[in-house]
Amino acid sequence: MTKRVYNYNPGPSTLPLDVLKKLQVDLLNFENTGMSIMEISHRSPEYDKVHNDAIALTKELMGLDDSFKVLFVGGGASTQFAYIPMNFLKKGKVGAYVDTGTWSTKAIKEAQLFGEVHLAGSSKDDGYTFIPKGGDIKFPANSAYLHITTNNTIKGTQFHFVPDSGQVPLIADMSSDILSHQIDFSKFSMIYAGAQKNLGPSGVTMIIMKDTMLEKINDGLPTMIDYRTHASKNSLFNTPPTLPIYIVKLVLDWIKDQGGLSVVETINKAKKDIIYGLIDENADYFRGPVQKDSRSWMNVVFRLPSEELEQKLVSEAKKAGFVGLKGHRSVGGIRVSLYNAMTLEGAEKVAEFIMNFRKNN
Ligand code: PMP
Repeated sequence: MTKRVYNYNPGPSTLPLDVLKKLQVDLLNFENTGMSIMEISHRSPEYDKVHNDAIALTKELMGLDDSFKVLFVGGGASTQFAYIPMNFLKKGKVGAYVDTGTWSTKAIKEAQLFGEVHLAGSSKDDGYTFIPKGGDIKFPANSAYLHITTNNTIKGTQFHFVPDSGQVPLIADMSSDILSHQIDFSKFSMIYAGAQKNLGPSGVTMIIMKDTMLEKINDGLPTMIDYRTHASKNSLFNTPPTLPIYIVKLVLDWIKDQGGLSVVETINKAKKDIIYGLIDENADYFRGPVQKDSRSWMNVVFRLPSEELEQKLVSEAKKAGFVGLKGHRSVGGIRVSLYNAMTLEGAEKVAEFIMNFRKNN
């Protein structure tokens, strides 16, 4: 086998080695069908089991009861930016959004195409370096929903609380922190996430939808855009992305085998403590732009004394087998993505590399 690197890519990102190995074994002959999962019907009993196991595991890991549906759709999380207002925004109502950076800004832009948007909170004036406090998130009673982005992949911020939305349905883009820590998922009326960070490969978007939301959907929508289509057919109205869903199922098995979200959370906390500890202990050299109480556990962003040094770190890291450390082109700097599949060893090794770089530069 060729050597695998330490992969800190922000998405698509590293997958658990055990999952890749299982996939490799399954690829030529899945469940004695003599075919791969990619070559069998989405109506076959073999695929049906994968599909329903993935749904059941999601609900089990999230602690959700039968008032929630788990859906799998294509189109990436970005498609949901438009589908949410198309389904739920109506005359006399507003879509309330907390703007915490690039991805929520994009969600807002789409909503504006379909109705009125209310800015329920924003950290734009401070360069999106923090998450607005719960008490600062304000929205009118006629809000169709309150939308938040729980983890801001580019800016490196994360909600460490669930905002109280009262009677207003809470909708969250959890693309970059879903299933990374314990949280009361039942407080959300809808959760969506592109799979390619914490759940599996790109190509499938997971949606968690509370049943009561299905009653609020606007009529007259194209079939595939109406969430009721997917909810009523268990995401099998048309051909779902079967290979990505299969890999999601393997990742969910892997999370469960480790002991579920409490164990995953403990490991993720240890990982982020290593990197933030390094930044804080060397504050004369590294600068973390994000306010401490808003720091993301998934995407640690920081700056070096100069852009030249940042470029040098990224290129030397790559040569040493640590890839994907370059910050997003819109913000620069360094970003260490520590999704579930990144090992504790991976966090320790990259910290060691960064510390040596600092000593030598
Ligand atoms: N939301 C967040 C928080 C993201 O990080 C991303 C992708 N990086 C998206 C949405 C867009 O996801 P997709 O590429 O699946 O459309």
